[in-house]
Amino acid sequence: MIHEERFKLIEKKGVKYFIIPEFEETHLVNHGFTTRIGGLSKSPFNSLNLGLKTDDNRENVIENFKIICDVFENTIDRAVLSDQVHKTDIKIVTNKDIGKGLVKNKDYKDIDGLVTNEPDVMLFTFFADCVPIFFLDKVKKVVGLAHGGWRGTVDKISGKMIDIMKKNYSSDPNDILVGIGPSIGQCCYEVGADVYKRFNTNFTSVSNVLKPTGEGKWKLNLWEANKVVLEESGVPCRNIIISEVCTSCNSDIFFSYRKENGITGRMAAIIQLK
Ligand SMILES: [Zn+2]
Repeated sequence: MIHEERFKLIEKKGVKYFIIPEFEETHLVNHGFTTRIGGLSKSPFNSLNLGLKTDDNRENVIENFKIICDVFENTIDRAVLSDQVHKTDIKIVTNKDIGKGLVKNKDYKDIDGLVTNEPDVMLFTFFADCVPIFFLDKVKKVVGLAHGGWRGTVDKISGKMIDIMKKNYSSDPNDILVGIGPSIGQCCYEVGADVYKRFNTNFTSVSNVLKPTGEGKWKLNLWEANKVVLEESGVPCRNIIISEVCTSCNSDIFFSYRKENGITGRMAAIIQLK
């Protein structure tokens, strides 16, 4: 069951994707979080697989990029792709970077976040259970995306993004909207003592983030953890929109790394200033 109140599921040209109504209302961006619906790839990558690092047929993945760029009324040569490694480095993207990772080679690596203040540059990050985090400074007109698995979350990639937006674009956190998209929910995300210890070290309190299930296991709430980090960075609670949709509970519409034992495709978070 999908709760659609916070992120909204829409369909365009046969592609289903989520938008954040608060972002849409600014009229500043094209953005979305894709589902697995609307592409060409065959099982187990069916069908809108955007993961170039998966074992899927590369031509099909490129075709899927063309499909999603068309939905966004853009072309693949305007895309800039991340190079995700579960760390917290964020790349400042400019018009010189367009096409990198898709129609051109990347000249960067180990990048889990992208940010830009230039229009018509499509930022792409990739997911199958990790948390997509969308950023929009509606005053300074800056957009960003971050990839937050448990490692990126515990190392506070969301806070690093806010710091970069403040430092490079003079953003005021009060003006920044943040969308925390579909990912594995606390319902389905059991972790062990290694993860618990890292959160207990980096967070002042873990009681709202990790729920003990007994036998040295916990259930991790990545949405709440990222919200805590964002509030520490000065983003008001009212600016943070959490989808509260679990990818593992809904593998009919999402690729889920855990549910599908690692053999699956990737969804994308996409944002572009108009
Ligand atoms: Zn779940």
